[in-house]
Amino acid sequence: METPLTSAEPMLWSGWGDPAKAAELPAPVRDLLAELLGVRAPAVPAATFGEVRLPPVALPPPVLAALATVVGDEHVRADDDARIRHTRGKSTPDLLLMRAGDASDAPDAVVLPGSHDEVAAVLRLCAEHRVAVVPFGGGTSVVGGLVAARPGFAGVVALDLARLNRLVSVDPVSMVAELEPGLRAPQAEQLLAGHGLTLGHFPQSYEYATLGGFAAARSSGQASAGYGRFDDMVAGLTVATPRGTLEIGRAPRSAAGPDLRQVFLGSEGALGVITSLRLRVHRTPAVRAYEGWRFGSFAAGTAAVRRLAQEGPPPTVLRLSDETETMVGLAKPADLGAAGRDSGCLLVAGFEGAPGDVAHRRDRAAAVLAEAGGVHLGPEPGEKWAQGRFSAPYLRDSLLAAGATVETLETAGFWSNLPRLYDAVRLALLGALGSPLVMCHISHVYATGASLYFTVVTAQTADPLAQWAAAKRAANEAIVQAGGTISHHHGVGRDHREAYAAEIGDLGGEILRGIKERLDPAGILNPGVLIP
Ligand SMILES: Cc1cc2nc3c(=O)[nH]c(=O)nc-3n(C[C@H](O)[C@H](O)[C@H](O)COP(=O)(O)OP(=O)(O)OC[C@H]3O[C@@H](n4cnc5c(N)ncnc54)[C@H](O)[C@@H]3O)c2cc1C
Repeated sequence: METPLTSAEPMLWSGWGDPAKAAELPAPVRDLLAELLGVRAPAVPAATFGEVRLPPVALPPPVLAALATVVGDEHVRADDDARIRHTRGKSTPDLLLMRAGDASDAPDAVVLPGSHDEVAAVLRLCAEHRVAVVPFGGGTSVVGGLVAARPGFAGVVALDLARLNRLVSVDPVSMVAELEPGLRAPQAEQLLAGHGLTLGHFPQSYEYATLGGFAAARSSGQASAGYGRFDDMVAGLTVATPRGTLEIGRAPRSAAGPDLRQVFLGSEGALGVITSLRLRVHRTPAVRAYEGWRFGSFAAGTAAVRRLAQEGPPPTVLRLSDETETMVGLAKPADLGAAGRDSGCLLVAGFEGAPGDVAHRRDRAAAVLAEAGGVHLGPEPGEKWAQGRFSAPYLRDSLLAAGATVETLETAGFWSNLPRLYDAVRLALLGALGSPLVMCHISHVYATGASLYFTVVTAQTADPLAQWAAAKRAANEAIVQAGGTISHHHGVGRDHREAYAAEIGDLGGEILRGIKERLDPAGILNPGVLIP
């Protein structure tokens, strides 16, 4: 067993990430946003920590005392600080509510188990007392995956898995490592690096999200073209449920019936608590090389990306920005005003691995991209992207403070349908918000299709929550009508539950409710999340 040497700074309670990295928006950018989008500073300043409104603790003291007998007094916390930091996730609506001082969805208490057996005992106890349990990893959900429905329950606890943070074992022959779910991604990488290994999972939430959360929400990282999605990495799981423990996955592939791993990948805390993960690992790459290519249009770039995905071998990172995202990313602030669509489209290709392998894949990709009309821009745009790859969420906080509404959403579809999906979502967002900036990129590719990831920036209205709710509703309807999936990697949570129900149909919903009833008869696990 190995534990991490470092623990991340606690996340900013009303925003993203490490408070020390919070950055002011430069004055020229603020001026430009005012000119271009009509962004004005919000009339009401953000609440301070002391101004946050919390509901009283609803859980009876005997239940809190019983929980403390399982995990220890110091690991049951009902203080304001712990409750506020476990309120909701990190979507823009979540942040807007916290900035308004609204912590009405706070759990009554935060429980920190130290082992699988403690998790199992907490679940039994909560089932007995009808206490809702929200499994809590890094708290970075952007789909409302961390808010339990209260009706019918004596209270809600957040089950924070941070103490389950060990590297349990490494099997260097099979290239499989067993790790606990509460490890944040950088901690897991640090522990694996001691063995010359990496997971290769680098989502934009990398600094704070956990391994359990990646599995429970089917995460996909920026290097998914090379290392795969997180659910592809999972060889086995241990899951605690109110009905008992499941050990799943005893071989790399199996024909022994349906794969029960798939029941828990994407289960978002509603079917069980993942307490251990057996994950495929890779040797730490000796070489990392990122570079940029320019395409005349998103359509031309998409065709090139499809060829790479289908004919391979693909780069480790493959990311194509549309015209607007390219322009915003490349522009000096002064150039933005032109708002033209003539900057072309930037493609970033990154290669990681052994020197010979990187050289081969790079040459092959260069041949395909050049043949598809790409112009090689050299390493600078690629390196620039790699350096700033985790900084955008900090910018969101600055934009919110400046009076802009900024949020992301994503979907996926087959290649033949991707242009239709792209147009439908873009038009829906433009229609709902007036004249926002709508940017998009492709960064998760498959032989058969890809995901589309949209970022929207617009001036906040007097009610930014209602403003975004209307835009999100329009985008969801467009996704459903255009044949996309309601989520490629953010998950379902509460926000996509209705659209997910439509996607899987009545019988699909019935199957999920049946599984839930069997594993969680009292319905305490994350009620209101995922299950239609
Ligand atoms: C700024 C930002 C950038 C992001 N970028 C990406 C990205 O690039 N790619 C991507 O895929 N996602 C991204 N996300 C979404 C989010 O980070 C992922 O969904 C991630 O997988 C959540 O991990 P977490 O540890 O924070 O889980 P949490 O948010 O704590 O939980 C997510 C869900 O899983 C459940 N859960 C957590 N741990 C367990 C467990 N051990 N057992 C059972 N259920 C559990 C929770 O109850 C909840 O429903 C981003 C989010 C933000 C805020």
